[in-house]
Amino acid sequence: MTDEVVDLLVIGGGPAGLSAVRAYREEGGKGRVMLVSADPDSPYDRPPLSKDFLRGDASEDDLGLLEDGELSRLEVTWARDRVTAVDVAARHVGTREGAGFTYRTLVLATGANPLPLPVPGGDDASVLRLRTLADSKRLREAVGSARTVAVIGSGFIGCEAASSLRRLGLEVVQITNEDAPQEKRLGAEAGARIAGWLEADGVRLITGATVTAIEGGTVRLRDGDDVTADVVLTAVGVQPASQLAAEAGLSLHEGRVVVDAHMRTSADGVLAAGDVVHAFNTAAGRALSVEHWFDAETMGKIAGRTAAGVDDAEWSDPPGFWSQIGDRWLKYAAWGDGYAQARFEAGAGDAFTVWYHDENGAVVGALTYEADENYDKAFSLLG
Ligand SMILES: Cc1cc2nc3c(=O)[nH]c(=O)nc-3n(C[C@H](O)[C@H](O)[C@H](O)COP(=O)(O)OP(=O)(O)OC[C@H]3O[C@@H](n4cnc5c(N)ncnc54)[C@H](O)[C@@H]3O)c2cc1C
Repeated sequence: MTDEVVDLLVIGGGPAGLSAVRAYREEGGKGRVMLVSADPDSPYDRPPLSKDFLRGDASEDDLGLLEDGELSRLEVTWARDRVTAVDVAARHVGTREGAGFTYRTLVLATGANPLPLPVPGGDDASVLRLRTLADSKRLREAVGSARTVAVIGSGFIGCEAASSLRRLGLEVVQITNEDAPQEKRLGAEAGARIAGWLEADGVRLITGATVTAIEGGTVRLRDGDDVTADVVLTAVGVQPASQLAAEAGLSLHEGRVVVDAHMRTSADGVLAAGDVVHAFNTAAGRALSVEHWFDAETMGKIAGRTAAGVDDAEWSDPPGFWSQIGDRWLKYAAWGDGYAQARFEAGAGDAFTVWYHDENGAVVGALTYEADENYDKAFSLLG
């Protein structure tokens, strides 16, 4: 049992946690800095796990996020451990390995975890999910000796994984309760385009389907034939990893840690950033929940700067991300909390843009394919 005093303690080794320690040092933050991460792997790039890494076009070495010697240069101590308790009154955390730390400033950057499909068999160990490097390696290994795979879910990760697995030569069936992939989030026209791409890549899509159970390799559907596959992958959304924050009594909104634009939580000395937060964005004029790589990195940077004493570090960037389905890149810039109307604009060839408007006609986001000028325009309209 150890008990140490640290100036900055960051929980989580994803983009939010890593950028927090980097920004803290860049702003001249002093003293002992500790980063505790439950992931046994050193920080890595998560987006390729459903794209080039899954397809075998990128190796594990390509994913590393740390430069050689970076942590020692930043004087950051890295601990592979899981924080199990946070006491905000005592400014103390305890870990699974029995370590204890008293902090001056704490950053919670615990991210999110994939949800199990809430049906019998949905949380069986044989049903795979995709969040970590270990998950992606396990999926690669499982499909190495497989012929067929069922992907349940049609969010970005489900669509990316389905097209990547198809590239590996597997027979892929993708099952979704939507009428077209991502229709609810992106609109009917975008959903139809994505469906066309997946089908052109050879993915068999089953839409409007309700999965009632997963039994071994059999996916049972309410109306329709069961699907049997060698490997079953579910990609049905994530839940924020906010249990520590909830137990510590921090304010939450729909399971996410509420932070202001400086990433300050409801507790003194406690900041939070990334997928786990519901954060105030000054350009939007309201709080947002986003699950995007660059936004996690941006929020982590703001948390690190705030921890170092910068008082004007604020989240003001419009959120956005890119997604790769086969060889196609979709780019999305949006507040992400809904729209009243989706307006499809065809470009040259296959290019398109979907503009999202609120009830007053103002642009609240855009989805683009081969229309970078509109992606840039969306950022300037939102920002
Ligand atoms: C397969 C896949 C593909 C993706 N593709 C894209 C993409 O193309 N574009 C995009 O914008 N986004 C993408 N994302 C989403 C993006 O990866 C996340 O938005 C981003 O990783 C969030 O960063 P974060 O630092 O908040 O959390 P995470 O990256 O989830 O990191 C959280 C860290 O906290 C650690 N942790 C959690 N609890 C504890 C604890 N109690 N103690 C210690 N450590 C703990 C975890 O081990 C982990 O290291 C993808 C995600 C996945 C899974």
